[in-house]
Amino acid sequence: MKQKVVLALGGNAILQPGQKGEYSIQKENVDISAKSIAKVAETGCDIVIVHGNGPQVGQILRQNELAKDEVPIQPLPVCSAESQGFIGYMMQESLKNVLPSKQVATILTMTEVDPSDPAFKHPTKPIGSFYSEDESKQLALEKGWVMGEDAGRGYRRLVASPNPKGIVEVETIKLLMDNGVLVVSTGGGGIPVIKNTQGEYEGVAAVIDKDSSALKLSKEIDADILMILTDVPNVYINYGKPNQEKLTDLTVEKAQKYYDEGHFSDGSMGPKMAACIEFAKLGKTAIICSLDQAAEAVNGEAGTRIIG
Ligand code: ADP
Ligand code: MG
Repeated sequence: MKQKVVLALGGNAILQPGQKGEYSIQKENVDISAKSIAKVAETGCDIVIVHGNGPQVGQILRQNELAKDEVPIQPLPVCSAESQGFIGYMMQESLKNVLPSKQVATILTMTEVDPSDPAFKHPTKPIGSFYSEDESKQLALEKGWVMGEDAGRGYRRLVASPNPKGIVEVETIKLLMDNGVLVVSTGGGGIPVIKNTQGEYEGVAAVIDKDSSALKLSKEIDADILMILTDVPNVYINYGKPNQEKLTDLTVEKAQKYYDEGHFSDGSMGPKMAACIEFAKLGKTAIICSLDQAAEAVNGEAGTRIIG
């Protein structure tokens, strides 16, 4: 049996900090990412790629807001789906160019969340444009948006970041992987949907952490390896301090101990380590490494590995 690998790509795989998002620049980044992914594929694994979408969905929202007097604004789950399609297209093109004999497909993926998830009561995730305090009060009144100050940069809409409950298209993803297709799925953590009171799926204004969704997908497809590719080669304890120490192979207990001691920041390494620890507890391997060392990390020669 081939090893099944979930590859979760960080934001830097598509856009680097400071870049504005011109198509040619995003495509250049995706071309580079595709080369790293191809090296993992060449080690003989079956792969499903999960990616972030923060900057891309942010730009789609901004386009909607700027054009609202001419073109009706589309809801957040639609913007999320648009970003999955856009990024999926770039990945398919780049991957096909480096792996011509491989079938590559993007699955627009819905991630089910629980409508009673406490996150809906306390939206925390800033999205879309920045507004002044007055504008933000107006939007809260007009649209019922929850608004909040974002790190001194202005006011933004806040949405909930609920936990993923299930990947709706999981059986399709498995079917494709079992037939050798390289799948792109659950982009941006998935399009958030709930089951409404009639038992029907319905998109909701929320964003789901892509590392949590990658964990959910890994469990549901019974993956062997969860690999989170980001912009640092390793996880460190005392990160950014003079006594910073690189972590290589870790037991679940050691990883949990460092997690509890607060070595991993909340919005960045924290959710990655939490996902990896939970996956390793199933007796499997979770890896965090840089995008360019992905193939070496699969072979145990790079990155930080939590071995369950
Ligand atoms: P991604 O887009 O890949 O999800 P994030 O910015 O969310 O990227 O997370 C990666 C970042 O986590 C790194 O660039 C690093 O600055 C930060 N980080 C926080 N704590 C640690 C740690 N203990 N070890 C390594 N990186 C850490
Ligand atoms: Mg992140």
